Amino acid sequence: MQINSKLPNIGTTIFTVMSALAREHNAINLSQGFPDFGCSPKLLELAQKHMQAGFNQYAPMQGIIQLRERIAEIIQTCYNKAYSPDTEITITAGATQGIYTSIAAFINKGDEVIVFEPAYDCYVPAIEVHGGIAVPIELRYPNFTIDWHQVKEKVNSKTKMIIINSPHNPSGTTLSAHDLHELESIVKGKNILVVSDEVYEHMAFDNQPHQSVARYKSLSEQSIIVSSFGKTVHTTGWKIGYVAAPKEIMTEFRKVHQFLVFAVNHPFQLALADYLADKATYVELKNFYQAKRDLFRKLISQSRFTLEPCTGTYFQLVNYKKISDEKDTEFAIRLTKENKLAAVPLSVFYGKQTDNKLLRFCFAKKDETLVAAAEIINKL
Ligand code: PMP
Ligand code: GLN
Repeated sequence: MQINSKLPNIGTTIFTVMSALAREHNAINLSQGFPDFGCSPKLLELAQKHMQAGFNQYAPMQGIIQLRERIAEIIQTCYNKAYSPDTEITITAGATQGIYTSIAAFINKGDEVIVFEPAYDCYVPAIEVHGGIAVPIELRYPNFTIDWHQVKEKVNSKTKMIIINSPHNPSGTTLSAHDLHELESIVKGKNILVVSDEVYEHMAFDNQPHQSVARYKSLSEQSIIVSSFGKTVHTTGWKIGYVAAPKEIMTEFRKVHQFLVFAVNHPFQLALADYLADKATYVELKNFYQAKRDLFRKLISQSRFTLEPCTGTYFQLVNYKKISDEKDTEFAIRLTKENKLAAVPLSVFYGKQTDNKLLRFCFAKKDETLVAAAEIINKL
């Protein structure tokens, strides 16, 4: 059979590749972004309770109302914006499905979607599968800031969507209020939808509040916010996330959602709704990860890597040009095989494989894992 691939140039994701390599070589895995510690025992008890109580059949298509109400409360608490749990919030199988569904629901053949590179790896393939055209704009290295003049130049009548992500994976940087105002003024009055990937929303550091699009009235009216509980409660394997958007946008989103997954894991939604009643579970997350960031940065401050700024997420970028001039992909593979430490090379997040000699380390790890990784790093 002749296969006419819709994604001829796409291989396996870097996260799967690096985690497999780490396992094969028994390396410390700071590559794929996930905690190596458990979630709260209370959350596990709640999940078990709801399974034992028999909530093991389909959840409602939009997600259980208790969790949608909880999400509305979280958004109200954090960003002072009301979304209707009934018509404006949907539970998804992780942020990945929220992003894919947003693109599937709104992108037609030939539509242009602006993405900022380095870009999280699920954006461009989803655009291309739907016949859209990804229009990449590189963030300015070293601070990974957006050149808004360039954005204005790239916007045209074919531009249907702009995807933003703050706190940003893989750079570990965050957008400012100024950035959000710029975006708001660019899309205002145009038929452009903003997809705002905010999965690290509760991990913005140094007392800088997370700039959710929910904070900006006119911007939020043409935006879909995507987030994920995987990051917030240390359960990346549960694959439960959500999207929030104005009713008219959500109606279209749900038309696709119902045929892509229909509904999401029922007992875990109930557990999350109960668990997140305690606001400390999300409000204090930034302190937890800021302490990990500070520990990791201190541990490797004397190494030959240059530490890039990290204002959010659980990723720390390092520049290795004082150590090697190898390609970042080759350096990352060698580091895993020879030094037993796995990281993610940054060039894979660029269409043009831009190589600034950067590696991404995930610091969502036990302190002892970070100490062991630092021992390796400091010898390089
Ligand atoms: N967006 C970004 C920026 C991410 O880092 C991730 C994964 N960590 C996702 C989306 C996907 O989240 P999920 O695992 O909930 O699908
Ligand atoms: N988002 C995680 C990361 O950036 C990985 C998720 C995945 O493996 N798809 O490492």
